[in-house]
Amino acid sequence: MKIYNTLSKRKEEFVPLEEGRVKMYVCGPTVYNLIHIGNARPMIVFDTVRRYMEHKGYEVNFVSNFTDVDDKIIKKAIEEGVEASVISERYIKECKKDMQGLNIRPATTHPKATEEICGMLDMIGTLIEKGHAYAAADGTVYFRTRSFKGYGKLSHKNLDDLQGGNRSLLVTGEDQKEDALDFVLWKPKKDGEPYWESPWCNGRPGWHIECSVMSKKYLGDEIDIHAGGEDLIFPHHENEIAQSEAANGKPFAKYWMHNAFLNIDNRKMSKSAGNFFTVRDISEKYDLQVLRFFMLSAHYRSPLNFSAELMEAAQNGYDRIVTCVSNLNYLLENASAKAMTEEEKKLMEEAGGFTAKFDEAMDDDFNTADAIAAVFELVKFVNTNADAQNSQEFLLGLKEEILLLSDICGLIVEKKKEMLEEDIEALIKERQEARKAKDFKRADEIRNELLNKGIVLEDTREGVKWKRA
Ligand code: AMP
Ligand code: ZN
Repeated sequence: MKIYNTLSKRKEEFVPLEEGRVKMYVCGPTVYNLIHIGNARPMIVFDTVRRYMEHKGYEVNFVSNFTDVDDKIIKKAIEEGVEASVISERYIKECKKDMQGLNIRPATTHPKATEEICGMLDMIGTLIEKGHAYAAADGTVYFRTRSFKGYGKLSHKNLDDLQGGNRSLLVTGEDQKEDALDFVLWKPKKDGEPYWESPWCNGRPGWHIECSVMSKKYLGDEIDIHAGGEDLIFPHHENEIAQSEAANGKPFAKYWMHNAFLNIDNRKMSKSAGNFFTVRDISEKYDLQVLRFFMLSAHYRSPLNFSAELMEAAQNGYDRIVTCVSNLNYLLENASAKAMTEEEKKLMEEAGGFTAKFDEAMDDDFNTADAIAAVFELVKFVNTNADAQNSQEFLLGLKEEILLLSDICGLIVEKKKEMLEEDIEALIKERQEARKAKDFKRADEIRNELLNKGIVLEDTREGVKWKRA
C-alpha cells in the first residue's frame, strides 16, 4: 500500500511502526457552528482510509479531536450570553449527527481540548525546561521556533524565507517575542473568557499545542499517520511537529496526509468567505450518501469543485449501485437454493477481478475515483450476468462483493424496505389461520419471513404482538 507523504513529497510504501496496527490522528473541527461540506471532506476521506486499512487487516486506533476553546467559540458565546461550553457541546452534538448521516464511524477516541489542559501544561513545562519555549513578562508562553532544527520540513519552507521576503507567512509578531517566527503556546485570559490556572498566567492554550498533547496521550510519542486538510500544513502541522519532536525527542508522525480543498466557483469553501453549504443544507435536498459518493468520486489530493451538476452525477452514480443491489435482492427472493453451477463458479471468479482492481486503486494512495470505477464495472458485470435462472449462492456471492466494496467506501447501498403495517397484519392473520388448521409448516414460514424483514413476533395471552427489530 502506497501513501503520498507530504513530508517527503512522494508516494511511499506504508510500513506501520508496529506490525498489524495503525496509529492515526486526524485534526478535527472547531465547534462553533454547523460543519460545512468542506469540513466534511477530510472526515469522509480519512474515514475511508481507516475502513480500507481495516479491510486489509490492520487494527486502527483512530483519534480525532474537537477544538472546543477558540476565539470564534468565545465570540459566539458572548453574543448568545452563554458559557463557551454551551456552544461547543451544542455543535459537537450536531457534528456527530452529520457524521452519522455521512456514515463516518466515530473515532476510537474523540478528545476535547478543554479536557486535556493538564497534558498541555505538562508539555509546555517540558518545552520551557528544554529551552524550546519561554514565558514573556505578561505570562504568554512562546515556542522558540529557531531552537528546533527541523522547522519547515513539512511545508518545505526555510526559515530565511519565512523571516525575509514573504511576510504573509510570518506568524504575527508582538513586541515581547524574541523572534517574529515564535508562536504562542499559552496566552493570558481576557475579560469574560474561559481560563485555566497555570504557572505562567491564568489563561488558555494556543491552538497548536492541543493536537501534540492529545496525539501523545492517546497514541504515544510516535504515530503512523497524521492527517487533515492542506490548509493545516502551515503553520498548524509544522508547529505540531516542532512541539512534539522538541518535547518528546522522537520523530512525531511517519506519514503526513493532506486532502485538497473542496471549492465552490474554484475558491476554497470556508465560513469566513461566506461561500459555504452546511452538511445540513445538503441533507435537505439529497441523501447524505450522495454527498459521500460525490467526495469519493475525486482523488483526495485533487481539488474538487462543488456544483449542482456534479451532485446530480453523484446521485445517478450512487443510484446505479443501489438499483443493482435491489435487483439482486429481487432475484434472490425467488432464487433456487441449489449450489453454484460450474459456469457460475467461473463467472464468480471473473467478478473477483473487480475486487482486485478496487484494491489496486486503493493501494495506490487511496485512489477512490478508480476504486469506484471498479465498483461500476462490477455493477455492469452483475447487470449483464445475473438473472432469474441463477442459483441463490451465486446471486448472494455477487451481492456480498458489491456490499463489501461499498462498505469500504462507507456507502450504504442496500436500502432495507420497511414493511407496511397492513402487510404485516395480513401475514399475522394468515399465520393464525395456518395454526388453527394445524399447518405449522406454513406458520413457521411466515414467522421466518417476517423475521427476515426485521419484524419480531411475540405470542402473548392477549394475542400476537409484533415489533420492528
Ligand atoms: P476547521 O474547523 O476550519 O479547523 O477545519 C476542520 C478541517 O476541515 C481541517 O482539516 C480543515 O483543513 C478542513 N477544511 C476546512 N475547509 C475545507 C475545504 N474547503 N476543503 C477541504 N477541507 C477543508
Ligand atoms: Zn491539529
